[in-house]
Amino acid sequence: MRTVVSLSDLRSSRIPFIGTVGLIPTMGYLHEGHLSLIRRAREECEYVVVSVFVNPAQFGPQEDLAKYPRNLERDSRLVEPYTDLLWTPTAESIYPPGYQTWVEVESITHRLEGAMRPGHFRGVTTVVAKLFNAVQPDKAYFGQKDAQQAAVIRQMVRDLNFPLEIVVCSIVREPDGLAMSSRNVYLDAGQRQAATVLYRSLGAAKEAFENGERDADQLRQIMKDVLASEPLAQVQYVSCADYDTLEELDIVKAKALLSMAVYFGKTRLIDNFVLD
Ligand code: AMP
Repeated sequence: MRTVVSLSDLRSSRIPFIGTVGLIPTMGYLHEGHLSLIRRAREECEYVVVSVFVNPAQFGPQEDLAKYPRNLERDSRLVEPYTDLLWTPTAESIYPPGYQTWVEVESITHRLEGAMRPGHFRGVTTVVAKLFNAVQPDKAYFGQKDAQQAAVIRQMVRDLNFPLEIVVCSIVREPDGLAMSSRNVYLDAGQRQAATVLYRSLGAAKEAFENGERDADQLRQIMKDVLASEPLAQVQYVSCADYDTLEELDIVKAKALLSMAVYFGKTRLIDNFVLD
């Protein structure tokens, strides 16, 4: 594995890659969720490129950019067995002084995470477009953990004719159901225990769906009731939305997304289940 920092080193290292190139964009502090994407790329592509970049443009002013966990040495060791090229650009090289070009996807970014985190998806789509331009992958791998992000990136790829395939991989969970996330390290022992309530509430709504419940309000209420049973959980939103448009539903008729954002102290966790 080669590790590069500058865009010119990235480009020159990419030149000899003749064959399918897979890109896995990450913000580092890697866990099994990230590694599942990287291993999938290893199976499907001749060359695997991983980027580690904590993208300042996708953090709001009150968010955790400065304290976002980082450990490049460990990340490098973890990806090494599966990766040909590790790219760790600096913020100054991605957004040099005078930078003024942004990629913005419209209505699908106005809901859910986009409604709660203004500007977040503009930061995500801009950096991902820049990563795609630099690496020129044939396939790019994203996690269903960030369901809206995957939908927004698929939309951007369609709209801007990026010549690549987006592969969305299932959520990797801890044995007790908590979705793996770099942010889980912020949780203290009590919050970590309490955080299993996300999985339980999604599970309760999915079970009701499987037993025939199609009223989206009922499904949202089931999730809220389970979340309300956990005193440490402060719910930001609970959603039952159309899988493609992310519009809130009245009745579930086609593929749908159950999703939520919940605070435990200052730590904000998201999770989702697909209803099919
Ligand atoms: P991040 O480093 O949080 O930006 O995540 C990088 C990529 O890994 C994104 O596409 C995430 O959706 C994906 N990812 C993060 N956590 C998980 C998980 N638990 N299971 C599957 N994919 C994940």
